[in-house]
Amino acid sequence: MGVILCPTHGMTGIATSIEVAMVDQIHHDVAIAADDVMLLTVNYYEDSVLFFTWQHLVYKATVATHGFSLHYDIYTEDESILAPLHALTSHGAICGKCFHAYKTKHGWPNISPGLEWMAP
Ligand SMILES: [Zn+2]
Repeated sequence: MGVILCPTHGMTGIATSIEVAMVDQIHHDVAIAADDVMLLTVNYYEDSVLFFTWQHLVYKATVATHGFSLHYDIYTEDESILAPLHALTSHGAICGKCFHAYKTKHGWPNISPGLEWMAP
């Protein structure tokens, strides 16, 4: 489980796989329209059985720029098709409670990219 030390919330859960530029905007409480962002879904299969699903939160404009698919199915160890997406989101993490507060304040749906886990 991912944990982060937040200056506001202390040791708490972490929301990950968010486009880095967006994390920066969220940290600065810049309003982003919910319509301007979207989740890209990656389904990981093991022996043809869905093993787990991971979501990445990106700007719609980014999807257009990079030609990302809305949804990927990964059946092998080879995830190279995801490299351009990972380059944008793998360092995009924020305190889960800060993210939740931002979503509430700015009228976002309760989306949960990556691993979002709230410490008790
Ligand atoms: Zn926080």
